[in-house]
Amino acid sequence: MAAVVEEKGTISIHTENIFPIIKKFLYSDHEIFLRELVSNAVDATQKLKKLAAIGEFNGELGDLKVTVALNEADKTITISDNGIGMTAEEIKKYINQIAFSGAREFVEKYKDKGEAQQIIGHFGLGFYSAFMVAKEVEIITRSFQEDAEAARWVSSGDTQFEITPATKAERGTDIILHIAEDSEEFLTKSRISGILEKYSRFMPVDIEFDGKVINNKSPLWTKSPTELKDEDYLAFYKELYPFSEDPLFWIHLNVDYPFNLTGILYFPKVKNDVTHKDKIRSTPGRYYYR
Ligand code: ADP
Repeated sequence: MAAVVEEKGTISIHTENIFPIIKKFLYSDHEIFLRELVSNAVDATQKLKKLAAIGEFNGELGDLKVTVALNEADKTITISDNGIGMTAEEIKKYINQIAFSGAREFVEKYKDKGEAQQIIGHFGLGFYSAFMVAKEVEIITRSFQEDAEAARWVSSGDTQFEITPATKAERGTDIILHIAEDSEEFLTKSRISGILEKYSRFMPVDIEFDGKVINNKSPLWTKSPTELKDEDYLAFYKELYPFSEDPLFWIHLNVDYPFNLTGILYFPKVKNDVTHKDKIRSTPGRYYYR
């Protein structure tokens, strides 16, 4: 006997559902929230620098920087910058509209593919990743534009948000994360400095945490090979991999065309360990070992 089909339809995905999905997909990668928010903050400073260079901002650039602050008692992490800031209109445009629609596209595109790496690779989670660790996110921001009024945006990670006027003396943005109970592991200095060192180490403006600048603004690969000595390359390798032996050799890449690429490719010493022989043998192609 044929079954009677009562109703057919499409299960719709509403934006209200995206945060639990983001949380689930990216479970092991929650720490990237800090990388994303620090990158946004750095971008905001670089945008202001660009506006100054083309004469659209004539005020004082000052000391452009990003500060990360931890308040264990309040259970907050705050990422502050003195970049371009946003007006209330810009918050509506960039945070509400684009971000929410972007997140919906993300879910629709990846709902069948559970691979976190794929998701991270194809969709910069950006501002949204804050909700992987925070139960509430506040933005307090003041645009660089003269006489701009400061604004405050707050949301608990559903589609509800609130925008109100705020008081903020200086231009720039504070992103305040009210950390959720299941993410309290991030409320320690060592965890935060570990994440910053892992992801934000070579940012082009100072990233300050706990009174210290954590980054190197001019990493070796941005310098010309002609002004570098072997010692410089070895010292940089030691900075990256403090417990490793010196590398065998390295190649300083500086490609302009067909794409722009700068970097240093280090080749570590490989131990001549016979127990690895079988493993290497079974690897196809050019790694074949005799
Ligand atoms: P993306 O950075 O990929 O554009 P995001 O969701 O991270 O996406 O951010 C959306 C937009 O919000 C940014 O493009 C930017 O215009 C604005 N924005 C986010 N953070 C800041 C900030 N700290 N200062 C100024 N604008 C910001």
